[in-house]
Amino acid sequence: MGTILVGYDTETAAVGEALALMSESENFHLLSLALDAETCGRALELLTDVHTDVGVPATLFVCGRTLLHALEPVRAAKASGLFDVQQHTFSHVPFKDIEYAPVPGVLARIPAAPPEALREELAVTSRLIRDHLGHECVGLRTPFGYYRGLRDRPDLLEIVRGAGLKYVTSWGRNEQNGNPTPWVQPFAYEEEGYPDVLEVPFQFWLDVVWFDSHGYDTGPALLEALKGAVDEVAENDLVYGACFHDWVMLASDERRVEWLRGFLRYARDRGVEVTTYTDYWRRVTGG
Ligand SMILES: [Zn+2]
Repeated sequence: MGTILVGYDTETAAVGEALALMSESENFHLLSLALDAETCGRALELLTDVHTDVGVPATLFVCGRTLLHALEPVRAAKASGLFDVQQHTFSHVPFKDIEYAPVPGVLARIPAAPPEALREELAVTSRLIRDHLGHECVGLRTPFGYYRGLRDRPDLLEIVRGAGLKYVTSWGRNEQNGNPTPWVQPFAYEEEGYPDVLEVPFQFWLDVVWFDSHGYDTGPALLEALKGAVDEVAENDLVYGACFHDWVMLASDERRVEWLRGFLRYARDRGVEVTTYTDYWRRVTGG
């Protein structure tokens, strides 16, 4: 049957430092949609329409800064009953060093944040979710995503567990630090001494990595690729953590192109279960 976990990194108005390094990209006029808090509201409206139409839920991994700058849209998304809200740090800080080439010849280097910053970023974002949305945060998507996630990094897992988080979704790159990421399946960080922290990898193509490498007008080709992924997931009974972004919905003109809507419909019609990251965590751990 297979299971698809749908997650949207909701980070508009929180990624300014990363974007500043990408100003040479020919797509900067699209990337810069992520600077304007209004983008988040428009994207969440669109996602609510899509998920209502298809009848499936999703997780929003929200940056603390985004939550504060787009509070009403995030509250409305939660109130729709379609979205579970978890965190993506306060200001989109990396856990490991990042090198990313948004276009050939442009290399953005972002060093890992110091442990004190990571600790406070996680604590404050969980607190903001508690104070403004009224629930305990249990899940974290790390900004950017890494090859092997937090494997062999007990220091980082200690920070994650110390913040009261129960699952992390951090393995989002292949061996070449790119996409597609192979179908590595969810696991507990037992080997590192953290059997109570579940990793839920996000595989295949991140929407942003696909569009940066293929062009932002290639939504129809992404839809075809995603249908192929759904077939693989169904045939091999895999868990696929999908990773998309609020602002990419506008940058890729989802309302007109419907690559996301088509993907979710195809999964539903193919009989693949579509659910949230948090539902999956709850099911496998009994949390
Ligand atoms: Zn992000």
